[in-house]
Amino acid sequence: MPPRHLYIHIPFCARRCSYCDFSIAVRSTTPVDEYVTALRTEMDGLREDLGGTTLDTVYLGGGTPSRLGGIGIGDVLATVRDRARIAAAPEITIEANPDDVNDMAVAHWVAAGVNRVSLGSQSFDDAALKWMHRTHDARQIGQAVNTLRRGGIDNISLDLIFALPAHLGRSWESDLLRALDLEPAHLSLYGLTVEAQTPIARWADRGATVQGSEEGYEEEFLAAHETMAGAGYDHYEVSNFARPGMTSRHNSAYWTGASYAGVGPSAHSFDGANRRWNVSAYSEWIRRLGLGETVIAGEENLTDENRATEEVYLGLRTRRGLAIAEEEVSRVQTWEAAGWALIDEPLKDPRVRLTATGWLRLDSLAADLAAQRARPVSASLSPNPSHCYI
Ligand code: SF4
Repeated sequence: MPPRHLYIHIPFCARRCSYCDFSIAVRSTTPVDEYVTALRTEMDGLREDLGGTTLDTVYLGGGTPSRLGGIGIGDVLATVRDRARIAAAPEITIEANPDDVNDMAVAHWVAAGVNRVSLGSQSFDDAALKWMHRTHDARQIGQAVNTLRRGGIDNISLDLIFALPAHLGRSWESDLLRALDLEPAHLSLYGLTVEAQTPIARWADRGATVQGSEEGYEEEFLAAHETMAGAGYDHYEVSNFARPGMTSRHNSAYWTGASYAGVGPSAHSFDGANRRWNVSAYSEWIRRLGLGETVIAGEENLTDENRATEEVYLGLRTRRGLAIAEEEVSRVQTWEAAGWALIDEPLKDPRVRLTATGWLRLDSLAADLAAQRARPVSASLSPNPSHCYI
């Protein structure tokens, strides 16, 4: 399957956020020319893959792509257009931090074809933002949204993090309402998890409390579900909410098992049967491209069993749900009785959709069903994560 979706990983960040274990390159000055030159080299090697296709979506993730500035993003998208056809009405998304958004940058992004911005906001509480090592304050989030709209971008997604430790005193309800006040087209909500090698993991090792309680996690997730539904947003994927017609086309492609190409350090690609991934360190990606070496670090051929497992996991995480076999209905009816799922058409073409309460048990329910069909869910399922996809 030729890819109709392209992910470009742009790894630069001004500093590491306290919860982040992503493949990033912390730089005070972004090496724009070095990055774009290397990207051109990698994309030259994909001419055959991309030559016969038309890209429906392009996603610039990171890292913090907005660190490339207006001209840098223009160069990245010109690099794509020189090597691939882009659809007449594509979705072209850039992840941006609020402090990188200004009129000049937005003008360049729009001229380059960007029509969607995922704004890493995380919270409207300045103390929480400081604890997270974010480089912006709450006021800059609203300013960035206004600047984007003034420049012609109305398809704006905001990211928020929940399940912060109680000692921060952050009000989740207030953050949700502040986000809704800005009327975003889309909202992504992620629960804080403690990953190895992150600043908060080190703080935890020293005895600090860095996470909310399990009960708090569930309460905040369910509160978000209620609040967003009440405001007219569709909870269309476990972590994502959208106004009608404003779902992320790029991320939705991942969740339907579509093929995609990924370029840049740590980017993943999938052709429908094989998944491959690039070296994750920026310096190694640059070194190899400079020497004309491959940047592919690994490859995995998906067996029929692997694909069956992925279908379960991807189906259950979305509102679309998953087609189930007749012999699976009785098992899933126990989920329905517990309030974790709904079964559509149980007698003919049955389909299961998890409820918000069910999504809190997504991993174990997916593993349960997948164990019947194939092997347990593996960690290698995740596609290209967006920068704050924790
Ligand atoms: S969370 Fe996002 S902005 Fe922060 S360090 Fe990670 S990739 Fe960079």
